[in-house]
Amino acid sequence: MSISEFFGSDVFNKEVMRKSLPVKTFLKLEETIINGKKLDKEIADEVATAMKNWAVSKGATHYTHWFQPMTGATAEKHDGFISLSGDGVILNFSGKELIKGEPDASSFPSGGLRSTFEARGYTVWDPTSYAFVKGNTLYIPTAFCSYSGEAIDKKTPLLRSMDALNHQALRILKLLDIKANKVLPMVGVEQEYFLIDKEVFKKRKDLVLCGRTLFGASSPKDQQLDDHYFGMIKPRVQAFMEELNETLWRLGIPAKTEHNEVAPSQHELAPIFESCNIAADHNQLTMEIMQKVADKHGLVCLLNEKPFAGVNGSGKHNNWSINTDTGLNLLSFGKTAKENMAFYLFVTSIIKAVDDYQDLLRVSVATASNDNRLGGNEAPPVIVSMFLGDELMKNLEDIASDISLDERKRNVMGVGIESIPEFVRDNTDRNRTSPFAFTGNKFEFRMLGSSNSISCTNIMLNSAVADTLLHFADELEGVSDINKGIHEIIKREFISHKRIIFNGNGYGEEWISEAKKRGLLNLVTTPDALPYLIKDKNIEMFIRNNIYSKSEVEARYNIQLDNYSKTVLIEATTMIDMVNKDYLPAIQKYESSLVKEIKLKKDIGIASISKYETKTIDELFTLTDRIYDTLLKLESALDVVKELSGYEKAKYIGDKVKVLMEDLRAYVDKAEAITQGDMWPYPSYSTLLFSV
Ligand code: ADP
Ligand code: MG
Repeated sequence: MSISEFFGSDVFNKEVMRKSLPVKTFLKLEETIINGKKLDKEIADEVATAMKNWAVSKGATHYTHWFQPMTGATAEKHDGFISLSGDGVILNFSGKELIKGEPDASSFPSGGLRSTFEARGYTVWDPTSYAFVKGNTLYIPTAFCSYSGEAIDKKTPLLRSMDALNHQALRILKLLDIKANKVLPMVGVEQEYFLIDKEVFKKRKDLVLCGRTLFGASSPKDQQLDDHYFGMIKPRVQAFMEELNETLWRLGIPAKTEHNEVAPSQHELAPIFESCNIAADHNQLTMEIMQKVADKHGLVCLLNEKPFAGVNGSGKHNNWSINTDTGLNLLSFGKTAKENMAFYLFVTSIIKAVDDYQDLLRVSVATASNDNRLGGNEAPPVIVSMFLGDELMKNLEDIASDISLDERKRNVMGVGIESIPEFVRDNTDRNRTSPFAFTGNKFEFRMLGSSNSISCTNIMLNSAVADTLLHFADELEGVSDINKGIHEIIKREFISHKRIIFNGNGYGEEWISEAKKRGLLNLVTTPDALPYLIKDKNIEMFIRNNIYSKSEVEARYNIQLDNYSKTVLIEATTMIDMVNKDYLPAIQKYESSLVKEIKLKKDIGIASISKYETKTIDELFTLTDRIYDTLLKLESALDVVKELSGYEKAKYIGDKVKVLMEDLRAYVDKAEAITQGDMWPYPSYSTLLFSV
């Protein structure tokens, strides 16, 4: 079968809807999808029955309302289609069941939004994201709310942020007389991951429990030669990728590119871009399926941001643009003067949004595991800045100083119809070190960690830009000369937000002091970043744009803090366990084997003892003490943690516990480097990195 035949074959997509529904019902459903409205109760039963019959023909026996709780994962509870009828069963699925589900929400973190006595939440189908069959189950992508209507998931605020952006962008387009009924953010996600052999994986307690190695002396060879990047794909990995692609394609996920990444055993997959909420659903599915397919191939797919110290971590690039339903990409230099004014105005709104809400973008990627990656090997720094490229930068400078590119067409209006600077899309001047780069017709945000839900980043990005457009539209709706008004906004905002633009090397040390001079935020850890989420200016922005209520923001703050603390504490206790049970005994065993050797020599009258023996014993003695002392310190730090809560707890963990964990690791890794290989209790980095 060719790809085009099976692409989307497990999806209840438009084509299937058209075939399985009466014309009138289909048209109504299509309208619902286009407008992103709730499903009309009148057609719900027909749609549900068609969906069930189709799903059953694909082998489904169950259905689930699939949702994205605030943990960042996905959740599902399966219900059978069967109901009893006489002595047998019939398969049933009503419109009511399609529209709304009522899972018990009590075990999902609510960040204080919901008390246990009102544990129920409800899920509502997002008809813009198609239902699909996976295994024996029909999956219905849904939003998840508490009984009192608060969003306790990641999809609801994402949809709200898309609405806000749509609303404000349409106001601007109307002013410019550009026809559009709908504006949608489009997103394409580059997803990095590691693949390692399952048998090797199972031998590492830290990988099994925490998804990353907490110890490990570096391998003599890792990524120094850059011989893995874009290198030949090994047959075992190739077989994995083929099955992965096929599985994704069946689910209508347009996986397109795949290649080896910089670190050994590291790879990347990118699909073709889709509208933001669908891209988010698809990325969640992709991460899940990667892990399942890997398992079938005797592999483990690691999505942790920093599975191995010393080599590159895994990120996710969020390629984002704003598009109209009439096919116009507002971040692409257009064909007409009007479109170009829109282009410059939208780019300006993004510059302002990224500067004003740099804190929120940082918060959107703040997790314990991403902290281990950001600022490290070939990863963006924690300082948010933008790269525009020479050409766009020069054009904006020209507009800001009232010069048009073409001097002959120069006029006072600067950005007026005749004099708008031309823009040739140029992909050559790329800056790989910028966290937020303009890449010709989209912006690429590169701070996301490989396991992050992309919803968080896009909620922030959509809302921040919507808010900026809101202010622009308010201003422009009051001016008599729109061209002049736009010119003034671009000029004013570009000048006042220029500090966020940095075209140099984002990985360099100088940038940190330069950024400080510019007053940009440098929020190194998750506990440093999170309090910014609940700053008044941010809560006000969320409320102004109907993204979150105050309590909804606070809930997310609490959950992110709690998640950070829990993640690091699991790691710390895993370290203590590994050191006590495995590392210290192994080191001691090796020491004593050396000591016995020396005694044996003495017993049979050999006087000379090698430097190797004495020095190694000495070093191991010293390291054993250091390891043990640090272990005790770590244990007492964890006792302190027990007395703390909320922000204080996370902050203490970030400042104290993390440092002790690093010290502990350093001593153990030193011991590993001088201990006999087969006496070391865990597979080495060389084995792990080259296991496939
Ligand atoms: P790169 O050179 O960074 O690899 P690609 O052109 O391969 O860039 O695209 C990377 C990702 O960006 C892909 O997922 C692609 O579909 C997506 N993408 C391309 N154009 C757009 C756009 N206009 N809006 C959003 N995403 C886009
Ligand atoms: Mg990229």
